[in-house]
Amino acid sequence: MAPLLSANEEEIPFDINEDEILAKPLDDAKPSKLKKAAAAFAAFLLFFLIVSYSVAFLGMDSIPGLIKSRQMDVYGIPLGDSMLVFSEGIYDEIVSYANENEGVETKFCLMGERKDGIITVTSLFKPLIIAQDFKSVTSKPCPEGTIVSVHTHPLLHCTPSIQDYRALHSSQDSEYNAVMCERGRFYFY
Ligand SMILES: [Zn+2]
Repeated sequence: MAPLLSANEEEIPFDINEDEILAKPLDDAKPSKLKKAAAAFAAFLLFFLIVSYSVAFLGMDSIPGLIKSRQMDVYGIPLGDSMLVFSEGIYDEIVSYANENEGVETKFCLMGERKDGIITVTSLFKPLIIAQDFKSVTSKPCPEGTIVSVHTHPLLHCTPSIQDYRALHSSQDSEYNAVMCERGRFYFY
């Protein structure tokens, strides 16, 4: 067995002359141009690494969907010229429904009323699900009067699929259609 290093041998020789540091003129304390450039380059490199990691993690197709989707805030979600707001309890109902269906896609129908540019969702309808897996859902249509027909997608994969657009053309069961790709994040199409 190799002998353990003594405390002394582990120490890195590093001689600090406090007087010398303190005596330095103030100008020297300012970062040099080279240091600034190095810091900027390091920041850029870090930013580049974060972006490329995110792209690799989410997949290139996620980016446009993320840009075009809308995250709900305290006021609701902009929808066309209107604002979509949820009456009390509805949003929590959506979240718990999405949680129950964690790992698979599901569908729900938002019903409510429109007044002065505000669409208030007053009820959530859960249509009969015929089949569902991690990347598709088949269900009975939303009832008449549905304002938004929503189906869920895997996390941050917000763009509707070709199949979603096909379904839209063959059977329209609501005024608007949306993909929910995160709790409170919707892509209207
Ligand atoms: Zn879809």
